[in-house]
Amino acid sequence: LHNVKLDFEDVLLVPRSSKVVSRANVNLVRTINGKWGSSITGVPIIAANMDGVGTFAMARQLGKHQMFTALVKYLTKDTRGVNKAIMDLPTTFITIGMCEEELDFVTQRDTRNLVIDVANGHLSQFVEFVKIARQKLPKAFIIAGNVVTARGTQDLLNAGADLAKIGIGSGAACTTRRMTGVGYPQLSAVMECARAAKYVGGGVVSDGGCVYPGDFAKAFAAGAEMVMAGTFFAGHEEGGKIDDHGYATFYGMSTHTAQKVHHSEVKDYRASEGRVTRIPGKGPVENTVKELLGGIRSACTYLNAESIEELKEDAEFIQVHNTINRTLEPYTVE
Ligand code: 5GP
Repeated sequence: LHNVKLDFEDVLLVPRSSKVVSRANVNLVRTINGKWGSSITGVPIIAANMDGVGTFAMARQLGKHQMFTALVKYLTKDTRGVNKAIMDLPTTFITIGMCEEELDFVTQRDTRNLVIDVANGHLSQFVEFVKIARQKLPKAFIIAGNVVTARGTQDLLNAGADLAKIGIGSGAACTTRRMTGVGYPQLSAVMECARAAKYVGGGVVSDGGCVYPGDFAKAFAAGAEMVMAGTFFAGHEEGGKIDDHGYATFYGMSTHTAQKVHHSEVKDYRASEGRVTRIPGKGPVENTVKELLGGIRSACTYLNAESIEELKEDAEFIQVHNTINRTLEPYTVE
């Protein structure tokens, strides 16, 4: 145990002398060139492949803002006309697990954007699977994960990923840290893995743990090319059903609830490493998107950055005991 590892809530960004007078001068759209020759263009934020988040309606709505969505795995196989159009958006990724049948399916579709997602991306078998995916889809933009170590990042990038996805135990609906004692504070994981990626080419996606718009800004400043979020986008109309009391059911994808929805059976040897929750509905995602993008734009003006690339340049973090003044939180009405 050498040094303390940090999370988003342990740090703040330090403002710099800035010439960016207006948030309107900040351009959040960027092109990311992957390690293996392909590229994607958009606002580099991606809704997670979770039920209630990675839906077609979410992909359509976020796509209007050039933001990305990773479709939930089973939706990947939906071939109806209207949904096919959403799947073909340049901002839509489809998600598969470590499953040959799913890989064959996306290969037949000649999928352009692919997330290959498993809970533990450090498995050597997973690294081999990413190699095969790259052989079958040489031109695809591939995100693979999750890992949290420099070695894990480099293994996935060398195997065929354009970006390695970083995060174990950081998700709000995740209980892996409690169940297994395994994890890595997200900010440090992103910083260390982004540095490791530079040596081999490619980059990283920060996945999980973003609660506030400022956390997305911190993830970019720490070196993430893209930021993935689940809970932040959950509870909106685009995610599915809001009940009569105004609540949405939202759960981690390793919960028994998720297993029952997608596999109709729960395997005895697999304990749930996620939470099932009822969260207040948040209305259309449009308002949340405006807040999020507004927050990141504002962060850019504080850091003299006209783009996310500039936000990442030499950003200075300070470690703090308290990031937020909570005095008025219980009384807040808007
Ligand atoms: P959030 O943005 O909600 O904090 O984190 C989203 C991420 O949590 C997802 O992209 C995924 O990596 C992770 N996640 C989703 N469901 C589960 C789960 O049931 N267990 C664990 N360990 N992680 C999950």
